[in-house]
Amino acid sequence: MSEKKVFDLIIIGGGPGGLTAAIYGLRAKLNLIMLEKTGIGGQIALSDIVENYPGVPSVSGIDLIARFEEQAKSFGLEIKFAEVEEIGSEDNLKLVKTGSGDFLTKSIIIASGAKPRRLDVPGETEFTGRGVSYCATCDGFFFRDKEVIVVGGGDTAVKEALFLTKLVKNVSLVHRRDALRAEKIHQEQALANPKIKFHWNSVLQEVKGEKKVNGAVIKDVNTGELSEIAAEGIFVFVGILPNADFIDCEKDSGGFIKTDKHMKTSLDGVFAVGDVRDTVLRQVATSVGDGAIAAFSAQDYVDSL
Ligand code: NAP
Repeated sequence: MSEKKVFDLIIIGGGPGGLTAAIYGLRAKLNLIMLEKTGIGGQIALSDIVENYPGVPSVSGIDLIARFEEQAKSFGLEIKFAEVEEIGSEDNLKLVKTGSGDFLTKSIIIASGAKPRRLDVPGETEFTGRGVSYCATCDGFFFRDKEVIVVGGGDTAVKEALFLTKLVKNVSLVHRRDALRAEKIHQEQALANPKIKFHWNSVLQEVKGEKKVNGAVIKDVNTGELSEIAAEGIFVFVGILPNADFIDCEKDSGGFIKTDKHMKTSLDGVFAVGDVRDTVLRQVATSVGDGAIAAFSAQDYVDSL
């Protein structure tokens, strides 16, 4: 059943984009609430170190996002922990349906971020939590002085591989091409690190183990040759998938929400920011910019009603 209160704005997701939208929205005196599924921070909270957010030369992801949260709360941000299941409409308003009740609002900013893509190979699901992981900052500690595999060649894979070298014995980085996708500065650091061994043009075919992971089968994509790597941990960083199943609007082929320059989606009064949006760069800095624009657009929309 719908609650009677009608918000000006509901922000779905508490990462950098959502928290920035909240700061701008609250300063514009919008009556807003943030709905967050699990915990404030989004993916950046799992990042060991952030060095490219201007004005803050080097900071852990968790410390950076704590500052965002503190700033948003200083303007009166109310956060409710609830998972959004569907967005509908009622009496010309938007109805945000969650597992903990429904909310009526004039406008919505979707800042629900993204989640790690899985490899979908034999053994991956079976050994998740028993050697297969999607977060080096969370699980790296369990593999101190052990051999581990990292799969992927993007910024996440390379940064997490670098982080793991501080804990583990060696990292075998398995990448499907012969060149990394990651930022050049991260590439240079990884290529120069003696603890990282590169397996180029290779894909992980199967996770092996008994009670826990003890290795993986990899395939050379050029020759088809199979080989085994012994490892106790396998970290998978092969991209991200948008958290956007609850909203039926225009999306790109990967399911990321399409927006215009105002962050407006194909639905009137619904905006999207950050990693969940169809964009060319996914960084804290870009999410922050998106969040500021979306709050400005939402205010404009609410004023026009
Ligand atoms: P990403 O940039 O999409 O990279 C995914 C990597 O996984 C690519 O190297 C890709 O190979 C590989 N891959 C994809 N599907 C695969 C499959 N099925 N099997 C094997 N390999 C596969 O994803 P991301 O690294 O998670 O980064 C997501 C976004 O966050 C990016 O925009 C990134 O720049 C940003 N980010 C930035 C930082 C930073 O510090 N600046 C840190 C983390 C993330 P190909 O290269 O061949 O496509």
